[in-house]
Amino acid sequence: MMDMLFVARRKSFCRVLGPGCRSVIWFYGCSRGCFGCIAESMNKSAKYESYEPQQLADWIANNHGIEGVTLSGGEPFEQPKKSLEQFLALIKQNPNLSILCYTGNNYQTLVKDAANQKILQYIDVLIDGEYQIDNDKGQRWRGSGNQRFHFLTRRYADEKNKWFNTFERQIEIELELNGSLLLSGIPSKDFIDNLTTKLNNRNISIDFS
Ligand code: SF4
Repeated sequence: MMDMLFVARRKSFCRVLGPGCRSVIWFYGCSRGCFGCIAESMNKSAKYESYEPQQLADWIANNHGIEGVTLSGGEPFEQPKKSLEQFLALIKQNPNLSILCYTGNNYQTLVKDAANQKILQYIDVLIDGEYQIDNDKGQRWRGSGNQRFHFLTRRYADEKNKWFNTFERQIEIELELNGSLLLSGIPSKDFIDNLTTKLNNRNISIDFS
């Protein structure tokens, strides 16, 4: 039996973390501890769910109409490697689905490891590098200027220049049935501070991811 994958949050349809409409998985846990990490609650919170690769793949398969899947975190590469590899292989049984993956590691470091190579073979675009709070350039889909797109397949390679040179941030805010607010996307630090202050003044809290 495969090791379980640990998931802090998942969203079936999201338009602000990669091209088109995507399912997003925020994996639980990251040992890096970047200052100002927007997903800090996913690294320390006791709240997470465990899934076998097939269970997560079945969820993806039922999200009809998506262009692909975005893996975020937490740190995807701190999940059990064999299980992550199997999960990605299951997603790619549908060749129309693209896979984007965020990681705090550098691609050059990841690729030295044989288990990581098996995972990377399924990823169309890797967005690498730790988050640097004082290096926010306002770039689309990237939190800080050191982070790079690595086009590992041809899927989006023709759009390389556009991806690197688009400065536009979008977020989605969901109101859950239990009354909590959930934010998806990569807002600037100033935006987060302003929004948090305004909501706190009204005794409303919001979770970021
Ligand atoms: S690598 Fe990503 S999830 Fe991990 S601490 Fe840094 S910003 Fe947060």
